[in-house]
Amino acid sequence: MAKATHRLKLAAQSLLLLFAVGSVAPVQSAGSSADIRTVWNRPAEPFEVIDGIYYVGTEELAAWLIPSEQGAVLIDGALEESAPLIEANIRRLGFKVEDVRFLLNSHAHFDHSGGLAQLKRDSGAQFIASRGDQVALETGRYVGFESVADLNFPPIKVDRLIADGEALMLGSVRLTAHFTPGHTAGCTTWTMPVWSRGQRLDVVFYCSTSVALNRLLPNAQYPGIIDDYRGSFTRLATLHADVFLANHKDFFRLWEKRAAMRPEGPNPFIDAGELGRFVEASRAEFEKDLADQQSSIETATP
Ligand SMILES: [Zn+2]
Repeated sequence: MAKATHRLKLAAQSLLLLFAVGSVAPVQSAGSSADIRTVWNRPAEPFEVIDGIYYVGTEELAAWLIPSEQGAVLIDGALEESAPLIEANIRRLGFKVEDVRFLLNSHAHFDHSGGLAQLKRDSGAQFIASRGDQVALETGRYVGFESVADLNFPPIKVDRLIADGEALMLGSVRLTAHFTPGHTAGCTTWTMPVWSRGQRLDVVFYCSTSVALNRLLPNAQYPGIIDDYRGSFTRLATLHADVFLANHKDFFRLWEKRAAMRPEGPNPFIDAGELGRFVEASRAEFEKDLADQQSSIETATP
């Protein structure tokens, strides 16, 4: 076991860069985590993705602004150093940071939760999250591999817990939480309907199902992780989405679609088959990663 642990540790270090991305959409170049944070935190121009949903994230990491008659919802905070960029993007679109009433999170990892503490302070918003991620969020710790500490992030207090299947209402915005644990114990996929050109469309904000740095065999901090992943794949495969949105740009070909947007043309973000394809690719990737971790333990154990 000692060798296997050591090998996993080495893998963890070199995989730091692939952290949330996994092999579904690998980051091409190696470098230090500081380098990758700089790359991930490059500023990006905010825009309306589809009626009433605005991209306000960085070039790599998503943050979503959903305004309503009664204030706005903001999903995800990217990295700690992304908070000022997200706030600038909100203002650039003509909205106010102080108008954000509800702050949500896809999952408790440094690249999606890091900016939340500052965003909460500056907006005065209520932070709503799932119980499964509460401890990670409130301690700012990476749970998934006990020897990885450099993925910690500023802690943030959860003001209100959301239940699985519960809908959060703000004005005419209705966001439903679907617990899809595995990537983190409280990984939450959010869905909402929008009206676009007289048509109702289902939008999904996909949490994540990559293995990334998670230790599957065994995971002392997260028992049951394998069953959770498998259950989430099954559940995600039953969701319907006309618009598939995620939290890393390559998961949903963000900038390619942005470049293809035309005022009168069909919205390239509408693709009813994309969620299903993504889930199946990710499920296959998970089973392969699990088999790899299994065989690396077997090789190391005489
Ligand atoms: Zn993650």
